[in-house]
Amino acid sequence: MAQRLKGKTIVITGASSGIGKSCALEFARTSPEDLKIVLTARRIDTLKEVAKEIEGFAKGVKVLPVKLDVSRPEEVSGFVEGLPEEFRGVDVLVNNAGLVKGMAQAPDILPADIDTMFSTNVTGLINMTQAILPIYKSRPDGGSGDIINIGSIAGREPYQGGSIYCATKAAVRSFTDALRRELISTRIRVMEIDPGQVETEFSVVRFYGDKEKARKVYEGVQPLTPEDIAEVVVFAAGRRENVVLADTLVFPNHQA
Ligand code: NDP
Repeated sequence: MAQRLKGKTIVITGASSGIGKSCALEFARTSPEDLKIVLTARRIDTLKEVAKEIEGFAKGVKVLPVKLDVSRPEEVSGFVEGLPEEFRGVDVLVNNAGLVKGMAQAPDILPADIDTMFSTNVTGLINMTQAILPIYKSRPDGGSGDIINIGSIAGREPYQGGSIYCATKAAVRSFTDALRRELISTRIRVMEIDPGQVETEFSVVRFYGDKEKARKVYEGVQPLTPEDIAEVVVFAAGRRENVVLADTLVFPNHQA
């Protein structure tokens, strides 16, 4: 696998914590030779710490932290142009940035939270995809590169109190599937990995920073770790070019 990823450039959204950060570490661990990783998120100081961690153990990897809010189209549209030349030949995009805000019945969900979830989880992911696709399509082989979208079990099995988040992840699922079909005549691979319950900052964000409430979500259960998902993402990117993990659900064993 390391051989297939040799010299590749990886862009990860939401790389400042949880699954995105673990993906960055896992790519660096698995395929350190000549790899280039662009870490993006809103918290630039945290991204710089992740970059430092990677540089500490993976000497052959070049890491670039970039402040990027995927929910702001003006930031996404200038993203590729703003990259230094050596990072512009993107080979793998991991569309991971995403969040849930609040836990409420549909009539009570705050308009601002609806907007944040859709503009990040759906429009942000689509905008990033549109920003990267021209690079893939311009390749002399007729088009190649990977798009790996992080969906959720919530996009398949909606739950009470999470209607908007579930709707965003269902939208990601439809978009991913349609895009994969649109690009079927190229060597561009479009994949989706849907985690079940993973312990990250996700629930802290869901409860507006209330760590105690977030901790209770994982009481008595054994969630996945972000590394569990990162291993699948790196596995997907390292497959032979004719192999697509189009639709992969990853659960902790206890989850129904
Ligand atoms: P975390 O909260 O730990 O990570 C979310 C990441 O997204 C952070 O790095 C955050 O960085 C980034 N982010 C949020 N909003 C934006 C934005 N507007 N622009 C750029 N980056 C943004 O949660 P997870 O690692 O768990 O979540 C990662 C993905 O996994 C999400 O898409 C989530 O929906 C999905 N998922 C998570 C599950 C779970 O149980 N944890 C289950 C199923 C799916 P920053 O704040 O610095 O911008």
